[in-house]
Amino acid sequence: MNLESRTDITPALRIIPRDQHTISRKNISKAALRVLYRLNEAGYAAYLVGGAVRDLLLGLQPKDFDVATDATPDEVKKLFRNCRLIGRRFRLAHVVFGPEIIEVATFRGLGEEGGEGDRHIVDGRIVRDNIWGTIEEDAIRRDFRANALYYDISDFSVRDYVGGMQDLEDRVLRLIGDPVTRYREDPVRMLRAARLAAKLDMRIDAAAMAPFESIGPLLADAAPARLFDESLKMFLSGNGLKSFRMLEQCGLLKFLFPVTARALKRGDEALRSLVEHGLANTDARIAEGKSVTPAFLFAVLLWGEVRDVAHHWIARGQDSNEAWARAAAQVVGEQCQRVAIPRRFTFTMEEIWSLQPRFEQIQRKRVFRLMTHPRFRAAFDFLLLRADESPAMRELGQWWAHAQQLPQEVLAAALPAGGGGSASDHMPAPVASKASRPRRRRRRPGDKPGSM
Ligand code: ATP
Ligand code: MG
Repeated sequence: MNLESRTDITPALRIIPRDQHTISRKNISKAALRVLYRLNEAGYAAYLVGGAVRDLLLGLQPKDFDVATDATPDEVKKLFRNCRLIGRRFRLAHVVFGPEIIEVATFRGLGEEGGEGDRHIVDGRIVRDNIWGTIEEDAIRRDFRANALYYDISDFSVRDYVGGMQDLEDRVLRLIGDPVTRYREDPVRMLRAARLAAKLDMRIDAAAMAPFESIGPLLADAAPARLFDESLKMFLSGNGLKSFRMLEQCGLLKFLFPVTARALKRGDEALRSLVEHGLANTDARIAEGKSVTPAFLFAVLLWGEVRDVAHHWIARGQDSNEAWARAAAQVVGEQCQRVAIPRRFTFTMEEIWSLQPRFEQIQRKRVFRLMTHPRFRAAFDFLLLRADESPAMRELGQWWAHAQQLPQEVLAAALPAGGGGSASDHMPAPVASKASRPRRRRRRPGDKPGSM
């Protein structure tokens, strides 16, 4: 970050007193309030800041509460027994209250590199930023104007240095400063724009959107582990479908998920529908408080390409198992260069994919073997999503749904011991009479319904 990029920004403070805004302490977590009061009593400035203030003003429940102060991390640590200092790139204090962590950050300054403090910039990118500053400086180094509002615990007012209140009213995300410079400093800000626009139902200002195409390729240099975290925030926070559509609409999908963008571009509407259904199901599960796993999500996002590559190898005479394994390795390998999906998840993804062809083998032994596979549930949920691919897939999904409802002996009797045939050839008649009412397959512990 250099001062040059900020000559267009003159922070102009507007104070919105308590009776002119909607933030109530009722909606702020007890833990955050304790941190704010404690800092304030010790003579430091203490503000709630960032997404929490923004969300509260929009009438949403914040997912975390961040605090900004003029106390240094060491000074914060002295005030709280339950405090640990973290981070190298950004030194921060975490004050821990059971499961809740309040992040306390010292105001960051705009000091020049080489001056006092610890800021490190490589090719215009901020790689370390530990220069303390004033609240005005802290405000203008934030990304969006709507993210630079401060709730002052000393008088319950909101401090607006860069016009964030206006943007919340207009429901628009505007960057602070020159967009190209701000994205060069940190290309992940582009993804944040898309994610926040989706989550908050706000639009992205035209000036903030314009550089996406030219600066987007810089996302290739962002740390893949950070892009994994950012992907989870986009897709596993309850707004996955909206985030996905926003990424595509903004032209950013191809930089983050080149594999997905490529498969979608081949023009398969069924694939788009499958991906969108997968994301919508995930959102619904989150809304119901059910568990979700990144493995299923990424299995959905990468499926189109894996399937097509596997079919390509099979058409060239390769053995089916080998073709699927090879396709999975190739596609996962390419995607992980961008987004570092941890091994424990890619392993599950590969299992979900490789079980798909096995659903088409309707023979007694194979059916029962597949049903007891530890990944059966996730693979079956995945099969149900594939109903979008073709009527035959839909029928296959229905067959397996029905098969799981049947008493084992009825199912076994209906299945051929060997040989082939389509699912419908071997579908036992639905059991209607009371005496033999379908028995639900007993769930194993840890086998979450509809989950992965
Ligand atoms: P969420 O709803 O996901 O928590 P958020 O805006 O609170 O959204 P955080 O990652 O929690 O996102 O960041 C907290 C605040 O820190 C932001 O509101 C913003 O002011 C600042 N911030 C976060 N990331 C960046 C960034 N890459 N560049 C500049 N400022 C940032
Ligand atoms: Mg936040």
